[in-house]
Parts: sequence; structure tokens; C-alpha cells
Amino acid sequence: MPIVIAGVFLWLTKGWWLLGLAAVLGLAHWLGLRGWKLLALGVILWLAVAAGVHHAPDSRFAWAVHWSADGMIWMLVIGLIALGAGQGLAFLHRRNIAPGHDAPGLVPLRRAAPAVAPKAPVSDPELDRYARHIVLREIGGPGQAALRRANVLVVGAGGLGAPVCLYLAAAGVGRITVADDDRVSLSNLQRQVIFRSSDDGRPKADAARDAMRALNPLVEITPLNRRVTAADTALIAGHDLVIDGSDSFASRQAVNLACARAGVPLVAGSIAQWEGQLTVWDPARGAPCMACIFPEAPAQGLAPACAEAGVVGPLPGVIGAMMALEAIKLIAGAGEPLRGRMLIFDGLYSENRLMKISRRAACPVCGSGHLPPG
Ligand SMILES: [Zn+2]
Repeated sequence: MPIVIAGVFLWLTKGWWLLGLAAVLGLAHWLGLRGWKLLALGVILWLAVAAGVHHAPDSRFAWAVHWSADGMIWMLVIGLIALGAGQGLAFLHRRNIAPGHDAPGLVPLRRAAPAVAPKAPVSDPELDRYARHIVLREIGGPGQAALRRANVLVVGAGGLGAPVCLYLAAAGVGRITVADDDRVSLSNLQRQVIFRSSDDGRPKADAARDAMRALNPLVEITPLNRRVTAADTALIAGHDLVIDGSDSFASRQAVNLACARAGVPLVAGSIAQWEGQLTVWDPARGAPCMACIFPEAPAQGLAPACAEAGVVGPLPGVIGAMMALEAIKLIAGAGEPLRGRMLIFDGLYSENRLMKISRRAACPVCGSGHLPPG
């Protein structure tokens, strides 16, 4: 359709020279020019053509371009204003899906957790331990205090849960609950870097607790040797944030439902083979929930678990560390979390893609669709 409109426009205005401009810009894009640099090149070429026409209106060049210099300048001005307005609207839209710039993150909106001395300022050993956070403008003392007050539930202590648990404990997240009903096996150790060979056969939640305690004795860890289900709304409502690294669609669906009911944001990641994706499901703050985007389970065999399909060892490290990063941003109120956006990482070709995602009005979990009673 856009090609048809462009063709009609060229035919009506006899602006065939635009094909040459498009070819030059296409070549520049192919050579790696992007964003404002590509735009600047387009504007410069446009102005050069307009100047050529203005300088010699009776030349073969002006005849070939067919447009007047004045008309070209007006078209450029109108085009740039439209582009600026579009960018402005997109910026406002992003701000709307990511409220929370006014409050330093999630935690101050909720009660304080008595992890370490609840209201004490950040102490000397903590100043040392978290020094690299405290010097960051976006975290600083208030952000670090918010991390200490935070109460986070990590669902699944597997490949994604391992870096999530380690980085959250290292970052000083005051209370961490880790839920997993599985036991450590040798085949986990290729990627679940929170476990040691000596953990073989132990419950994952217990082994993860010990690793986090050894890393940071200042944080309070609660292991849950069970799965989190859709009935766990009360458990989830007692946390500021849930991070889901579980490996089955049914489990992720259940956690999404319970989080949507409790109004708690959910950092969700998933991986298979060489590719991973992550986002923040948060229907209570305008972002979609998982059921908005994935209303139904994929057909049998289309999304096999890692045990069948395989997964390259560092991939859960990449995606899990990004999930921990999103959690820290959400808690400290830093930057723009992935609300309403999904990041897709292709490890085999080292490519990142960012997709915009929106809430669905008829979503059965967060929209007007039928919400199963809780
Ligand atoms: Zn939804």
C-alpha cells in the first residue's frame, strides 16, 4: 500500500528525482548510516537539489527535477515539522506507559520491609559494599535505600533465576523469596551458575539461598520449595515485584494471572536455544500483561522446553542479568523499564530487536475478557 501511494504521488507530481534520492539514502542505510545521521544526509541532499534548481531554473537539471525550489523548501519544512510532532507524540506515549518518574521507583509506594534495620541510613559497611551504586546518579543513596526496602519474589531458580538471584542479592535487595520445586542435577550446572557440583541433588531453592547468603549476608532470603501457581495472589501481593524465569508456558501463564490480580509488576524472560526475550508485564500501570500478547499456549512442539530443544550456556546469563537490571531500574525508579516494550536477543547472530507491545482491550486476564475468579 505505501508503495502504491508513493507511486501515485510521484506520477502526479512528476517528482521522479525522488527515486534517485531514495537510492542514495538506501545505499547509505546499507552502509550502516542510521537515525539522525541518515535524516541529516537526506536533508542536505534535498537542500542541495533545491539550491541547484534555484541557481539555474532553466537548466536541464531543473527541468529533470521538475519541482520549484520554493516548493521543495516548503515540503521540507512541513515534513520536518510532521516528523518532530510524531517524535513528540511517541515520547509522550512512552512517558504515559512508564509513570513513576515522580516517585523513586516501586518501593516507596508500598510498605517498608524490615530486612536490615528498617529506617537507618545506609551504614558504613553498606556504603562500601554498594559504593558503585551510590555514585550512580540514577540510583544514589535513595535508590540504594529503596533496594534495601524492596521485597522481591523470584519464580524459578533455574538458568534465568540463577543470575537474577545472584545480582539481586549482590545489589542489596532487602528481601528475596525464591520459589522452585526442583532439585539440582548435573545437567543444570552447564548454565545455572548459582549452583556448585556439590549441590547435586539438593533442593534448588535451598541451594540458591545458601549461595545468596554467602554472597551478601545483609539480605534476607526465604526459600520456597514449591511452584508458584495462579492461586498465589496473596503471596505475590506481599511482594513489590515478581521476576519469572520459569521454563513452561503454563507456569508463566499462572504467575501472570496472579500478578495481574495482585497488581504487582512482573519482569518476565524466556529463552530457547540461542534466542531470548524479556519484558515487564504491568497492566496496573498501563503496560500489557502476558495474556494480551500470548493469549494461548503455543501448539505442542512449537515452544519446547530447554530440556528438549537445548540452550547455549551463557544465554540465560545474558537474559537473566537483563531481568535483574530491569528489576533494579523498577525498584530504584531509574531510566525507562521495558513496560510496553519487548526485547528480543538473538545470540547466534548477535542481534537485538525491540518491539512495542500494547494492552489488548479484550484480554481475558487484564481487559474486558472474562477474568477467572480468584
Ligand atoms: Zn492482558
